[in-house]
Amino acid sequence: MLVIKEIEVLGKYLSKQRELGNSIGFVPTMGALHEGHIALIRASISAHDTTVCSIFVNPTQFNESSDFDAYPSTISADIKVLEQEGCQVLFLPAVDEIYPKEKYQKPSFDFKGLDLAMEGAFRPGHFQGVGEVIKRFLDVLDCDCMYLGEKDFQQVLIIKSVVEQCGFPVKVIPVPTQRASSGLALSSRNLLLGEEYLDVAPEIYQSLLHVKENFNGENLDTLLADASNRINATNKLKVEYLTAANAKTLAEVKQEVPEEVVICTAVWAGKVRLIDNIVLAN
Ligand code: AMP
Repeated sequence: MLVIKEIEVLGKYLSKQRELGNSIGFVPTMGALHEGHIALIRASISAHDTTVCSIFVNPTQFNESSDFDAYPSTISADIKVLEQEGCQVLFLPAVDEIYPKEKYQKPSFDFKGLDLAMEGAFRPGHFQGVGEVIKRFLDVLDCDCMYLGEKDFQQVLIIKSVVEQCGFPVKVIPVPTQRASSGLALSSRNLLLGEEYLDVAPEIYQSLLHVKENFNGENLDTLLADASNRINATNKLKVEYLTAANAKTLAEVKQEVPEEVVICTAVWAGKVRLIDNIVLAN
């Protein structure tokens, strides 16, 4: 596997791939790779001649510097995993490479409200940061498809909007959330969980599942309250939000229940913030 650190080198390598007629898949990550990331890598490898995985902990999408500083890094293990999977290129840029101090104009996006709810409400500036890094990548990273996890449901819609706003000819492919056998969504942040939190964290998905299994089109408010109470009743987990939104627009569900509803939640497990979601059909 090629490990490329400079944007220019990556751009040249990819134009060569284009000349050879190769299709290109892209999997952006922040590293500390787990089976969730690997599902994206496999989806890309099975569909493209060349797969580029990026590992870049993007400072502009962190609204808390302590969260950025604590973000896990397991680069040598990540390289081994990518090699075993048969990934062709790892793009591993430094912060200055992505955000050069000179000659760099910060973009601004209009997400038409997609960025205001849920993660956007609790992490101000987060999605502008996500948009910024994705634009920076796609300006040079000429790929056919980009693979994203449904675990970050709102992020998928935001990135689709970036692709549309910038007119990138890239198809965004969402991949289902990979979970531990307990149901806990796999996440790099799980590495930061102490045992006392790991024991109760599966309650998050179990509570979402309870909503899905008992939803009858009319009882959403009660089910959402039950799910929040159930998570908080662990006495170790604390719900930040647990909201029902229109799965297409992310508008909060009030009286009228749309055809497809997504229940998204963010939960504090001590100092670690976990997110998860589930989609219900009405
Ligand atoms: P991250 O490294 O957390 O920024 O994630 C990189 C990509 O992997 C994003 O598209 C995530 O949505 C995706 N991802 C993270 N965890 C999972 C998971 N458990 N299942 C599927 N995709 C995931």
